[in-house]
Amino acid sequence: MIKILVIEDNEAARENISDILRLEGFEPLIATDGQQGLELAVQHLPDLIICDVMMPKLNGYEVLGALSQQERLSTIPFIFLTAKAARYDVRQGMTLGSSDYLTKPFSPSELVTAIQTQLKRKEAISQSYTQQIDHLKRSIDQNSYTDELTQLPNQAALSQTLEQYLTQDKDFSLFLISVDQFSFLSSTLNTADTEELIKLIAQRIQKVFPHSMASESLKDTFRMGQNQFSVLTDQVDPEGGQLPRTAYRFLNLLRAPYILNGKAVNVTTSIGIASTTNVTEASRQVSKVESLLQGAKTALYKVQQKGGNDYCFYRPEMIFSAFERLDVENALYYALQQDELEVFYQSQIDISEGCVVGVEALLRWNSAQLGWVSPTKFIPIAEEIGLINDISKWVLWKACEQAKQWQTMMPKPIGISVNLSAVQLSQPGLCEIVRKVLKDTGLEPHLLCLEITENALIKNKSYAINILQELKKMGVRIAIDDFGTGYSGLGYLSSFPCNTIKLDRMFIQDIHQRFSNQRIVSAIIKMSHELDLNVIAEGAETPEELDYLKLQKCDIVQGFVYAKPMPSHDVTQFIQANISEQLDSNQASIPATLAY
Ligand code: C2E
Ligand code: MG
Ligand code: MG
Repeated sequence: MIKILVIEDNEAARENISDILRLEGFEPLIATDGQQGLELAVQHLPDLIICDVMMPKLNGYEVLGALSQQERLSTIPFIFLTAKAARYDVRQGMTLGSSDYLTKPFSPSELVTAIQTQLKRKEAISQSYTQQIDHLKRSIDQNSYTDELTQLPNQAALSQTLEQYLTQDKDFSLFLISVDQFSFLSSTLNTADTEELIKLIAQRIQKVFPHSMASESLKDTFRMGQNQFSVLTDQVDPEGGQLPRTAYRFLNLLRAPYILNGKAVNVTTSIGIASTTNVTEASRQVSKVESLLQGAKTALYKVQQKGGNDYCFYRPEMIFSAFERLDVENALYYALQQDELEVFYQSQIDISEGCVVGVEALLRWNSAQLGWVSPTKFIPIAEEIGLINDISKWVLWKACEQAKQWQTMMPKPIGISVNLSAVQLSQPGLCEIVRKVLKDTGLEPHLLCLEITENALIKNKSYAINILQELKKMGVRIAIDDFGTGYSGLGYLSSFPCNTIKLDRMFIQDIHQRFSNQRIVSAIIKMSHELDLNVIAEGAETPEELDYLKLQKCDIVQGFVYAKPMPSHDVTQFIQANISEQLDSNQASIPATLAY
């Protein structure tokens, strides 16, 4: 309800005014003198004040003067009441800031009209202020979300748009486009030409997707910084070819010469692409928006490292940004000396007997600085910075030593599988290292299996065949890891001397429900058996997957359904329990030993 403060020392006049106000639906606040009026004004912040001029203690002018000193009260409409219509009094009141005046005696309608006029004015003023403030806010917003030079939305706008798209639960990709050698380029141009070049690049970029994927009003091209732009598209599948085609379009379109002041300027760009379908938030506690941006930056960094003028898709294994990568590199140098590395072991179970026939050694790194880092992340870095040989030698030694220990403490030997990296396979001296470790630890060669990924074999084909033959001559077993993730057929791989095929988890996941994978897996198992190769299925997690693999006569399963990778102490207990169970069910005869 609208509050009106009435300051009037004359009781009859006071009551008269209050009655009129109540009748009109206002809430009157009553003060009998100027001092009380001021106090009520501070306390209630009324919408309007009606005040008599002639009062003891504080007169109406003095009240008005005191109100004008206080910011909150100075804008309240003020109507003063005077018995005298002398021009001098009216002038004095208006000069002090009164909004209107009424000369006593006044009619109720005169009073009401004066009040409504002031209230309307007040409303109009406050509306106009609100509009002005809104307008100002909008223009500030627009400036802080727009790049002045190109008039494209800027990086802050991108984050906002990404948030919006992500809430819509639709998949999309982010292209991060960077002009190569920009510092050099701009040092050869004057400021005006550099700016013109940026504008022309922005125009060309916008030609690729002239319409926003969300709506006409939303823009999907952003200027990220001096020489970087980003573009959003609803294309997602790199295999489908759409994204690579778009990347080529950008590269070609932006490569065509730019004419600046009559001179042709040539520019190349690098593009990093991240899709919502291959970005995870697992690396740190970061939002999906950040992960997507980080993914595109990481992919861009990869291109730039190789000299630019190309594009690259972000893959989760590239998860490190340039800075994170440096952190990992630095920490990795100390990981071995500081005892941060540990070997975990994951059991491999003979599917028909249910007994442990071997274990795979899987490296773990609990960095003091970075926490647990996955081997899929740090092993490629260790390969690049030349640390992989030392690390691998250590793992091999640890794993063989452990297997030898088990041999002495268990009623049957347990085979050990150790992963070899592509780099190790391409370097001389591998066979000597293996021979020496076996000799030093006393492990029999047939208990060691070296796992080599399909892709590593293909990369080093000629060299690999010789090494594998030599290892085989030593009696060491060979497994082809992550089988099915490369592009070679089983027939081709059978030319390599190997004993075991490890089917990649990608085929095993939900296999009982996925018809296309069922056909591949059953064909691989059959062919492998014909070639006298064992098959290990990696990554079985559910009894349903396991049942299907059993039905297909897969030999061995390594997956969470049986056991996760564990520290040596735990895996020792796991194997011991498994052997006891086997002994119980087979009445004291030790069941099938090493099957691979
Ligand atoms: P890999 O050799 O194919 O090892 C199997 C990976 O699958 C392991 O991941 C294991 O923890 C995971 N795995 C096994 N069963 C399941 C399952 O049921 N569900 C799921 N989701 N995952 C399962 P991890 O330990 O993270 O190792 C990843 C890769 O890192 C290994 O793949 C191997 O390529 C590499 N790696 C690990 N340790 C070493 C090492 O000492 N040297 C080299 N060169 N590479 C290593
Ligand atoms: Mg492996
Ligand atoms: Mg594997």
